[in-house]
Amino acid sequence: MKLYGVQAVVINSRQMRDADRVLTLYSREKGKIQAVAHGVSKPTSRKRGAVQPFCHSEFLLRRGRELDTVSQCEGRDIFPGLWSDLDRMGCAAQVCEPVDGLTVDREPNKAVFDLLLGTLRKLETVTEFELTVRGFELQLVALLGYRPQLDYCVNCGNGSLNPVAAFSAASGGLLCKSCAVGTDEVLCSGETAAIMRLLLDWDPVKMDRLRVSIRSRNEMRKVLREYLQWLTEKRSRSLHFLESISDYRTPD
Ligand SMILES: [Zn+2]
Repeated sequence: MKLYGVQAVVINSRQMRDADRVLTLYSREKGKIQAVAHGVSKPTSRKRGAVQPFCHSEFLLRRGRELDTVSQCEGRDIFPGLWSDLDRMGCAAQVCEPVDGLTVDREPNKAVFDLLLGTLRKLETVTEFELTVRGFELQLVALLGYRPQLDYCVNCGNGSLNPVAAFSAASGGLLCKSCAVGTDEVLCSGETAAIMRLLLDWDPVKMDRLRVSIRSRNEMRKVLREYLQWLTEKRSRSLHFLESISDYRTPD
C-alpha cells in the first residue's frame, strides 16, 4: 500500500469504533482528505496531540481502498492560545467549518490552505477576532469562486446603495432598495457593504484598527451566515445530483 506525506490542518474529527477517529484534513498538497487515525482516543496514544481539531501537523498517510489511514503524524502548530480561550476556540471552529462544507475531496488549493493556517495563527493573538472571522469568510468564498458582488445592485446595476440595501445569497450580492422585495434577503446597509469590501481585500492583521458599529457587525454576521449556508447547500445539491446520475452511466 502506498504512503504519502502532507502538511495539513485538522478541520473536523469524529469518533469511530473503539479508540479510532475519522479526521477531515485540509492539506496543502492534496486539498481535503478523510483519514482514519487508529487508537488516538486512548490517553496513551502518541499521535493524540497532533490530531486534535485545528492542529497543523505533518502527516504520513497510507492509501486505502475507501479511507486512508494515518501512519505517522507530528504536530507543527497546536495552537495553545486557541485551546485556552473559549471565544477564540469558537472562532477557530467557525473558520474550519466552511472549509469543510465548501471544498471537495482531493482538490488542492494552496491559497485556501494558506488563508486557513494564517487565520488560525492570527486568531491566537488578535484582539479583533470577530472581524478576523468575517474577513476569512469573505476571502474564502472569493478564493472558491463565489466573490460576492458588493459594488452595485445585482438585479438592476444601480450603484447607489445607501441608505439601506439587502443582500441576496441566491443572487450572490447586494440588491438596491427598489429591487429588494423577496423575503429571503438580509438587510445590508451601505456602511456594512463598505466594510465587507474592505475585509475582502485587507490583511486581517490591520483589522485591529478598523472601527465598526455593532449594527454593522450584526448585519455582516447575518449576511455571511446566509451566504455560507446557501453555498454549502448548493454544493451538497450538486454532489447529490452527480451521485444520482452516476447510477445511469454505463461502465467502461
Ligand atoms: Zn436594483
